[in-house]
Amino acid sequence: MINYHNHTSLCGHARGELFEYIDRAIELGIGEFCFTDHAPMPESIRQGESMAPEEAEIYISSVLTEREKYKGRIDIKVGFEVDFPLFDSFDRRYFADSRIDCLIGSCHFIDGWPCDHPDFLGEFDKWNIDELYVRYFDIIGDLVESGLFDIAGHIDLIKKFGHRPKGDISNHLLRLVKRIRKSGIVVEINTAGLFKPVGEIYPSAEIVQLLFDNNIPLTLGSDSHSPEAVGLGYERAIAMLKRIGYRKLSGFSKRRRYDVSLG
Ligand SMILES: [Zn+2]
Ligand SMILES: [Zn+2]
Repeated sequence: MINYHNHTSLCGHARGELFEYIDRAIELGIGEFCFTDHAPMPESIRQGESMAPEEAEIYISSVLTEREKYKGRIDIKVGFEVDFPLFDSFDRRYFADSRIDCLIGSCHFIDGWPCDHPDFLGEFDKWNIDELYVRYFDIIGDLVESGLFDIAGHIDLIKKFGHRPKGDISNHLLRLVKRIRKSGIVVEINTAGLFKPVGEIYPSAEIVQLLFDNNIPLTLGSDSHSPEAVGLGYERAIAMLKRIGYRKLSGFSKRRRYDVSLG
């Protein structure tokens, strides 16, 4: 099994040492484990949200040190979860860095509003929720078309606190799935949503069915912000994927995608 979404304490809101995450992954029988910590965000919003630009090198080298230590026991990978469109503080040379195995593109901010942050929940009241979903899907569409990323992270994160569209937005969803298919990007199945108010994997089974119908490859991660969170919710995610018809997931090495059996 694989896990392509895991954070480190460098981001300021995760805890635990790298070896603790890795040991937990080994305990669970995970064969490929990728750290994808939050890439540097703009300074005005960085505090407690991401590493600083000067920490990126420390991050990469400490993960690569663990890779050597654990060789033969587990395959350790290194990547970043990069905010779209707020990646100005992320040195562009990392997009072409041969040490990097994969880049997740994620949207956590809509026009500067941290839409997944519980301290800013009030902002939802200012929106028509249907329009908010459409706006979020439009940003994800731009993200996948940017061609900068290997993986589209938690593509329906906007549901995190349980806000649901009232009307039918299926045509917008379909438009997003077409943009994803055309871009060739891999979509992430992220189990963290199960433990948030929405209580559901990102993205929903309905969306995963659309992705399957459009031959879109997936990867899997637990978005762990602590060693105990590694692999949480995996049974449910794997059962859903198998029920829908998936037999393979995608792994990455030096930003090249390859197939991994779903088991
Ligand atoms: Zn985080
Ligand atoms: Zn995220």
